[in-house]
Amino acid sequence: MQSNGYAYINTIGCQMNVYDSEKLAAILKALGFRHTTDMDQADIVVCNTCAIRHKAEEKAFSFLGRFAKAKRKKPRLLTVMAGCVAQQEGKKAFKRVPHLDLVLGTQAFSRFGQHIAALQSGRRQIVDTAPSDVIFDTMPDKADVSENQVSRFVTIMQGCDNFCTYCVVPYVRGRERSRSWESIVEEIRILADTGVREVTLLGQNVNSYGRREGGISFADLLEKVARVAGISRIRFATSHPKDLSCELIQAITDLDKVCSHLHLPVQSGSDRILKKMNRGYTREIYLSRINDLKNACPGIALSTDIIVGFPGETRTDFHDTMSLLTEVGFDAIFAFAYSDRSSAPASKFSDQVDEKEKMDRLNQLLALQDQVTEEKNKQVKGQVMQVLVEGVSAKQHADFVKTSDNMQQMTGRTASNKVVHFPSDTAAVGDLVDIQIMDAYLHSLWGQPLERQTS
Ligand code: SF4
Repeated sequence: MQSNGYAYINTIGCQMNVYDSEKLAAILKALGFRHTTDMDQADIVVCNTCAIRHKAEEKAFSFLGRFAKAKRKKPRLLTVMAGCVAQQEGKKAFKRVPHLDLVLGTQAFSRFGQHIAALQSGRRQIVDTAPSDVIFDTMPDKADVSENQVSRFVTIMQGCDNFCTYCVVPYVRGRERSRSWESIVEEIRILADTGVREVTLLGQNVNSYGRREGGISFADLLEKVARVAGISRIRFATSHPKDLSCELIQAITDLDKVCSHLHLPVQSGSDRILKKMNRGYTREIYLSRINDLKNACPGIALSTDIIVGFPGETRTDFHDTMSLLTEVGFDAIFAFAYSDRSSAPASKFSDQVDEKEKMDRLNQLLALQDQVTEEKNKQVKGQVMQVLVEGVSAKQHADFVKTSDNMQQMTGRTASNKVVHFPSDTAAVGDLVDIQIMDAYLHSLWGQPLERQTS
């Protein structure tokens, strides 16, 4: 194949964008571009963008803005804005980045190749934000799965029908559309053949998988994925509390490969704010789902998303969120100060909370959660936990002693999504190793492989 030069992809945002960028990279490879991590070497630069918060959006514009000079030096250099900001802005993006060549919306990936061909034959400033009913689901090329990659994301659906009032996703990723289970299972088989041992099934609301198409349920999909040989662990994100069914809780309980960790965004602990957010459940319903989970899967790890400073949030509302954190005892949270999104309804709500107050609340919330997380991690000291080895630790632990030439400090995750560091001269990437937890910290655990204990 004739070489088209080098391609550089910058991915901003969520796991789904990481997955989408892998798809864009595969298309560019098929078009004869070689991947590069050196921007100056690139003949095409793609920025896969995120519109979830103002900061992420500005990151995309400042990144692409930097190529004006390069473009003057190298006029054939192609610049592409892809993803959620591209979908949101469309041709308006050219006003802020006049040297941009292509604006590729979230549902236009299947047309990426033809737009590149049009640009290479001289066309400029192409916009494609047209909707598409199908999800672009090409199969991964085994050669593209990097060696030693034990964990991989697999998108199972796109879009969202929930219209939470602070969120742009339904406007930039469209209505919910699910891939066929056959193509998902086929993709996971290919990944398992290359040594991938853990898959994370991705969707904005995986609990409603297949609903629009009248296909199988998410619990049934988990059951099919669990039958794929070579896959040891299955994770998924994101679940919407209002769609957390008894069938799904049963699948988490029954299927050994489904990890004992669930990410269940609550966003607020106040019914008044949950209503303004259009979340579709109350604090009581959320807590009853949590209790159902804890009863069915004792010891399950839980994480959540929280927004503080939503328009109209009073201190009483905020304290409802603080008390919910204590009541549930999450293992981890992802918390953000509310950020206006022009295309989301909440941006027109009155009673905006001032920035300083928002940050104070965020810091209070994070400080409380740090205590809860550290306490939860301390509770597993002395336990034996199975760890999927991901590689050599970047940072050496104080207790690490190199007792043999091959001894290294390895790292991996438990099924409950806790990071564990441990010494080993035998463990390899992809192994499942039983580790006795010796010490616990805020963001990780330290342990010893069980066999060393017996000697
Ligand atoms: S469930 Fe709500 S927050 Fe999540 S993607 Fe859909 S609209 Fe956005």
